[in-house]
Amino acid sequence: MSLLIVGTVATDDIVTPFASVEGVLGGSAVYAATAGSLYCPVQIVGVIGEDFPESYLAYLQEREFDLEGLEVQAGKTFHWAGKYHFDMNTRDTLATELNVLASFDPTLPAGYGSTPYVFLANVDPVVQLRALDQMKKPRMTVLDTMNYWIETQREDLTAVVRRTDLVMINDEELRQYTQEHSLLRAARAMLALGPRALIVKKGEHGAALVTQEGYYYAPGYPLEDVVDPTGAGDSFAGGFLGYIAQQGHVSARELHRALIHGSVVASFTVEAFSIDRLKDVTAADIRARYREFAAFTHFESLD
Ligand code: AMP
Repeated sequence: MSLLIVGTVATDDIVTPFASVEGVLGGSAVYAATAGSLYCPVQIVGVIGEDFPESYLAYLQEREFDLEGLEVQAGKTFHWAGKYHFDMNTRDTLATELNVLASFDPTLPAGYGSTPYVFLANVDPVVQLRALDQMKKPRMTVLDTMNYWIETQREDLTAVVRRTDLVMINDEELRQYTQEHSLLRAARAMLALGPRALIVKKGEHGAALVTQEGYYYAPGYPLEDVVDPTGAGDSFAGGFLGYIAQQGHVSARELHRALIHGSVVASFTVEAFSIDRLKDVTAADIRARYREFAAFTHFESLD
């Protein structure tokens, strides 16, 4: 089954303690779609400017995403710049230039309205709401966001939270949004707004799934060399929801497996800048790392 992704298509400038790059292909929709397409067909809803490099567009076309919902508008493409701290787990945003995103009002192509799985990736919550308004009755809607939108559009963001089945957010942003220090209490506060589940992303330390019924946890995959953590969250989501869309149903068991798929896919993303590693990942690569996850997280119960 297909997965619809609403998010940013961007050029990024990235500085890590060890290297830096300028103008590389990025954006929440690009990472999520590249990850999701490892599992199922993907439709992208987003906007680019006239300056969007030809080679980046060629990649999106060659990857065979459905790009009918990707608009080209007069002006410049969304641009983001970030700098990572020495731990590579925390970062400062140096620039967020909305450009064509500032006036983007998505019109979903005919047929997109009935796509069963929807990922509202990190983008203006008003864009997320406008897209959601045009969806009929998705089986599952997942939302991601980031500090920028919590600070600038809190009310619109809350309106989206109320209409989604599962929220994905990193630990720092969950604390910021709920004003709760305890992550479990913060998770409960988020669930009280309506979602059935929440995934708290903790960078290299993994991700936790919290529902009304319980708690499940996946550690991060241990890597010796993290080159660039950008897009880890988006590709985690793409792997997670791509796997669910591929299975075609949502059960506790599939949610747990999806959490591992998300972690596996994200672990490839951070091995290079942009989508340089992620784009070459194969089904065999995923299977091999999934098996490793199963081995290093398994332990016997006491009884
Ligand atoms: P992540 O590392 O998973 O948070 O995703 C980073 C990607 O999100 C980068 O490629 C950026 O282009 C994009 N991005 C950064 N800031 C924003 C924002 N405020 N809204 C949407 N996308 C953003």
